[in-house]
Amino acid sequence: MEKHGKSRKFKGSDTLAVHAGQFPAIENVPSSPALYQASSYEFDDLDDVEAIYGGTRPGAIYGRYGGPNALHFESAMADLESAEAAVGAASGMAAIGAALATSLKPGQPLLAASDLYGGTLTLLENDFQERGNRTVFLNVTGDFGAIEAALIRERPPVLYVEAASNPLVRIPDLPELVRLAHAHGAIVIVDATFVSPALGKPLEMGADLVLHSVGKYLGGHGDVGAGVVAGDRARIERIRAYLVRTGATLPHFEAWLALRGVRTLALRMARHSANAAAVAGFLAGVPAVARVHHPSRPDHPEHALAERLYPGGTGGIVAFDLHGTRETVAAFVRGLETIAIVHSLGEVATTLSYPAVSSHRPLAPEARAALGVTETTLRLSCGIEDARDIIADLDRAFAGLSQTVPATEVPV
Ligand code: PLP
Repeated sequence: MEKHGKSRKFKGSDTLAVHAGQFPAIENVPSSPALYQASSYEFDDLDDVEAIYGGTRPGAIYGRYGGPNALHFESAMADLESAEAAVGAASGMAAIGAALATSLKPGQPLLAASDLYGGTLTLLENDFQERGNRTVFLNVTGDFGAIEAALIRERPPVLYVEAASNPLVRIPDLPELVRLAHAHGAIVIVDATFVSPALGKPLEMGADLVLHSVGKYLGGHGDVGAGVVAGDRARIERIRAYLVRTGATLPHFEAWLALRGVRTLALRMARHSANAAAVAGFLAGVPAVARVHHPSRPDHPEHALAERLYPGGTGGIVAFDLHGTRETVAAFVRGLETIAIVHSLGEVATTLSYPAVSSHRPLAPEARAALGVTETTLRLSCGIEDARDIIADLDRAFAGLSQTVPATEVPV
């Protein structure tokens, strides 16, 4: 086995401490990817520097430029998304910021879904607004005539949507939105965090870029902070250059964890989706529940569309409105024994969030109501446990509710 790097023959103990040891390159391939927790790499000589910087020889340069683990994860994501290329980012928000900043020149408007993730809304309404990128928010599950009129009126280079909305799991008709946007010169960027490539591939539906908050389903275990964008090579390389310049590239260990998560993605997504459908079915029969929001329910506005676009399901998210008030919500949450309040989603454990005080907190109650999010809307992220145990915990909390909340608030 060849010794790697410069000579390390020193006598001084301080020098030895700095240089001691050899790091031979291992010739056979590990059965799972090694973690390269190094922030910089050595070059043999200036020709080597030239070749690696110039891209004529593969090699790593410096942590922020991206290391081997980021490349491993990115190549897996490109394959999963049927994309030419993918690039990792330090967070979902870093991926969103980079995808938008490289697709919009200052001063250009964009069209976006009105029910976006709160962090994306805040980014658009602050930083992109200040950059001169005015966002025209639209109901992307509504009137295609209004969407086409906005495309004609605004001439935006970008239409930005989520594959499934938060928290009500509304499903836009991506192929139809892509057809309209492309006909009027706009590209379509899709945040597909809620479905993941195991359930649907927006690029195969015609979208131009797809991105994810990797800490949700892709990572899957609630221990990753990362983002990823996939699409055609030219766009991805522009995004990569932006991420390198702004220092928002994907750290090594996060990339390593993310790829490990991807290995079980398909299995987890099947279970998340089945559990969500089972929980939605249970909730539909609970008298204390005013409304269930889940595409598996026949009364969901995109029930048929969701079955067509995402035949394997739409992931673990189920929302429901309770009869009653915030106090009813508080009493219900107190009654849960295993389901914790967690302001994330897509983890192996079932978790709950209350959008009025978390994701939708910055919005006035009227603005929340316009999106269909009420003072008693709760969002469950169904995990991969046994569905009977998830339902038993919910059932216990509902039973406690009928004892603690005045009867007038819980119809029987
Ligand atoms: N997109 C969606 C749909 C999200 O739910 C989130 C975070 O919750 C993000 C993007 C932002 O991702 P991150 O928290 O990794 O920056």
